[in-house]
Amino acid sequence: MTKQGKYVGLDVGGTTMKAAVVTDAGVPLSKPVVMDTNPERGQDEGLETMCETIRRAIGAANLTLADITAIGVATPGLMDIKAGLILDPPNLKPWKNVPVRDHIAKVFGKPTAYQNDANAAAYGEFWVGAARDAKSMVLFTLGTGVGGGIILGDVIVEGEHSHGGELGHMRIAMPDTGRQCGCGARGCLEAYASATNVVKRAREDMACWRGPASKLRDYYTATDDDFTAKVIFQHAAEGDELALKVVDDTAYYLALGACAAMATVDPEMIVFGGGMVGAGEWFRSKIDIYAKRYGLPFPTKKVKIAFASLGSDAGFIGTAGCAKLLMQKKV
Ligand SMILES: [Zn+2]
Repeated sequence: MTKQGKYVGLDVGGTTMKAAVVTDAGVPLSKPVVMDTNPERGQDEGLETMCETIRRAIGAANLTLADITAIGVATPGLMDIKAGLILDPPNLKPWKNVPVRDHIAKVFGKPTAYQNDANAAAYGEFWVGAARDAKSMVLFTLGTGVGGGIILGDVIVEGEHSHGGELGHMRIAMPDTGRQCGCGARGCLEAYASATNVVKRAREDMACWRGPASKLRDYYTATDDDFTAKVIFQHAAEGDELALKVVDDTAYYLALGACAAMATVDPEMIVFGGGMVGAGEWFRSKIDIYAKRYGLPFPTKKVKIAFASLGSDAGFIGTAGCAKLLMQKKV
């Protein structure tokens, strides 16, 4: 009888990191263990917190290290995936050139996979989530920014310089007149369709709105803690016309991103994840309608546009999946 594999997936973010042990079938054996990343305390402490999160995850699954086949770690970019290095990510400052993969491999004595966090989340949706029956997929994750991942067969498109699948920074508007993106450029998809930028656009639309009275005006002086993309989607669902315009524009921009992905890799599925997809089918169908209107006619007839199904678990599950992929390559 072949022994079933068990993989630790550790998903490191700027605020918290999460880990759990996941089976060969992509099933987590416990709820994820969550610890604060505290990047400001320096990278040595950061590496120790990662190791401790992994230890606790193994404990939470009632296992010992001997039961673990391999470990996966995912971090936000900038990074060098082949070298296993965290380079200089804006949300893990002041970390620099952290040899994360080799450190974890040495501490635990296990094969260790390293991956970009958005690519890992995409792999999670591909492995056991919304695209589990698809042969290829492109994932857009809508959060503070717009992340992306491209999976073709069992290949994660890392790119030659570790930054393939940076779909949030594909240009959907002119680089001189488009909206300002956090990356320094203008016109990126992220500058239009991240949760943060949906709120920014709503504030701009509010200032020049000439349509029927809108409840969004109640938020005119609200902070971003109170005036969120979720609030805008809720009002849209209730028929508020200004909120509907903001949501409709968001669907249009996301569709332009989907069309660019179709023209680039022609995947079987395009999946959107993140808080906004909680809005459900009416929002998905808006994206679908715009994608069919503006995309290449033949692939847009066939491509399935869907919403992610794993929620925030996609990260650690997909990262464990990357560890499983590593072991498959070794066979
Ligand atoms: Zn950008």
